[in-house]
Amino acid sequence: MNLQRSPAAIPVADPLAEVHYRIDVAEGRIVGVRWRPSPHRDARPDGSDLELIIVHGISLPPRVFGTPWPEALLAGAGLPEEAWVGEDLRTLQVSAHLLINRRGEMVQFVPFHERAWHAGRSFWRGRSACNDFAVGIELEGADDVPYTDAQYITLASVVRSLRAAYPSLAHAPLVGHSDVAPGRKTDPGPAFLWTRLAEALVRAGRARA
Ligand SMILES: [Zn+2]
Repeated sequence: MNLQRSPAAIPVADPLAEVHYRIDVAEGRIVGVRWRPSPHRDARPDGSDLELIIVHGISLPPRVFGTPWPEALLAGAGLPEEAWVGEDLRTLQVSAHLLINRRGEMVQFVPFHERAWHAGRSFWRGRSACNDFAVGIELEGADDVPYTDAQYITLASVVRSLRAAYPSLAHAPLVGHSDVAPGRKTDPGPAFLWTRLAEALVRAGRARA
């Protein structure tokens, strides 16, 4: 009997394959993901569980990709004038839990059990101040520029991992910033295809089955 496996049977690593991230719930962090803590965070109010996932789009300057400035802004680092157009962002105090760049690479700024400052004045199903109970995920992008395959795959993978790690997120809605701050915010914009995210979530589920 020949037990030797044919080379064709050896799975090839797929760079776009969904992955399962391990989340250290005590630390509120994804294991193995780059950690760049932001000072723009505080405690969630008592009784606020994680119940919503908000997707954002950001690029600095707008529509220019691959700059270090979105990460710098969310990390609370200084921004040079070349990073913005029009609005002076130097005094803006914002953060998010995660940023996913165009290559699908992720950086985390705030532990999930702490409050990140991404939604601003916002409402969801009769509740205000969505930052209190939301996880904020920024995608490097612009409202009218297609997001990348790698971003959908990373986002789907991390959403599935979050839902598995935090029972209160198991059936939590996924919404855009524009859904919780209509008239004020437009991101992630019409270029973000919710059907593609839904498909990627199904695939990520199959990959883990
Ligand atoms: Zn936003």
